[in-house]
Amino acid sequence: MKEPVHLFWFRRDLRLQDNAGLYHALRAGLPVVPLFLFDRAILDELPDRDDARVTFIHRAVEALQAELVKRAGSSLVVRHGFPEQVFRDLLEEYDVRGVYTNDDYEPYARQRDRAIADLLQERGIGFHACKDQVLFEKDEIIKDDGRPYTIFTPYSRRWKSVLNDFYQASYPSESYLTRLLRQPPLSMPSLEEMGFLASSRTFPPRTWSPETILRYGASRDYPAHDGTTRLSVHLRFGTLSIRQLVREAGSLSGTFLNELIWRDFYHMILWHFPRVVSQSFKPEYDRIRWRNNEQEFQAWCEGATGYPIVDAGMRQLNQTGYMHNRVRMVVASFLTKHLLVDWRWGEAYFARKLLDFDLAANNGGWQWAAGSGCDAAPYFRVFNPYLQTRKFDPDLAYIRRWVPELEELTYPRPIVEHEAARRRCLEVYGAALKK
Ligand code: FAD
Repeated sequence: MKEPVHLFWFRRDLRLQDNAGLYHALRAGLPVVPLFLFDRAILDELPDRDDARVTFIHRAVEALQAELVKRAGSSLVVRHGFPEQVFRDLLEEYDVRGVYTNDDYEPYARQRDRAIADLLQERGIGFHACKDQVLFEKDEIIKDDGRPYTIFTPYSRRWKSVLNDFYQASYPSESYLTRLLRQPPLSMPSLEEMGFLASSRTFPPRTWSPETILRYGASRDYPAHDGTTRLSVHLRFGTLSIRQLVREAGSLSGTFLNELIWRDFYHMILWHFPRVVSQSFKPEYDRIRWRNNEQEFQAWCEGATGYPIVDAGMRQLNQTGYMHNRVRMVVASFLTKHLLVDWRWGEAYFARKLLDFDLAANNGGWQWAAGSGCDAAPYFRVFNPYLQTRKFDPDLAYIRRWVPELEELTYPRPIVEHEAARRRCLEVYGAALKK
């Protein structure tokens, strides 16, 4: 006779502390089997075998495993496969009476979870998804008329008025780890066995200092300074709890809290308007006649446009998997407006390269820059890369770090002239939006 158990499925929440779904699983009355699955439907599509995000996840899963063995005499079950098949196997191996997890708002994840919930339901097993990744989800912050907000400022006002101790409180999952099923440590697939190579990238630490948050409003826009937290990869994979960050840092800086609210906002937009994954939020922007010049796109990707701030940003991205937010806005505006390349091309390139790639925030950022987003930069606002440099990198410290040959003859000449590109952009956008 097998012992009845609950399963807890880790996804974007790779931590034992303050984990809502894990907490609910551990409190539900049966021993809990913790599970992580390397999803082949996602991994098989990744173009780079040394993708640093897979290394990050693998290390986080190894760390979870070590903690579970040490603190609870338990073991993570780690599988590499397609979710439905993995679940069919697990239902043979364990007497599963319920599956707990944390919600994921991306279209693929929603479809996957529906398929798993249906599979479980056929056998009378419940699928319980909890809110963990955001402070407020789905319909929690909506307008008085019951519709979702599409403008950030009123959304953020409502968000702040609803926030209270309850929503920020920690779920003390780590206090109940003895309720995990005790079992000897199980092996997990290596990166090589899954067809990946270990990446040599360094990852930013999961910590932040109160000084950074206190100075955030004044220094976050200067890419040469360490004025932001670099926590995005940890928020992306849930190695850090968003509730903990809001509790501990939210009251220190209103500007910082606002950025965390943007994160919730874009997740809410993706949930309510999943069409944004392939379409402009404002449909008329899909009438723009993009030039989509492949050579120019390639120059942008490589950081060889002759615009130093753009090239510095793209090289930072290519070499580290990170780009400062101010520079993300500049390079995205340059691609879509100066070069008239479809925002979806830039979005896809970022998705391939960013360690912190997050569909909701990336899509939101790109549609904001292109002007097609719900609460976007107006189309006639074309960032001037030279003015942006003068304002945010006046002594060229950031640019020189990434473009050391700046003053040499080998540095390329600008691939477009700013004023001509700006006029062309206004014409092309104007023609599409007038129709
Ligand atoms: P901090 O400034 O320290 O902010 C703290 C956290 O708040 C971040 O870690 C992030 O989780 C959140 N945050 C900050 N700014 C934003 C924002 N504008 N929108 C949503 N969340 C925000 N962020 C991603 O996490 N993943 C992406 O794929 C992504 N793609 C982007 C693409 C474009 C074109 C643009 C303009 C922005 C994008 N952003 C993305 C938002 C932002 O640039 C990054 O979150 C930020 O640079 C990460 O650095 P940090 O952790 O030091 O941020």
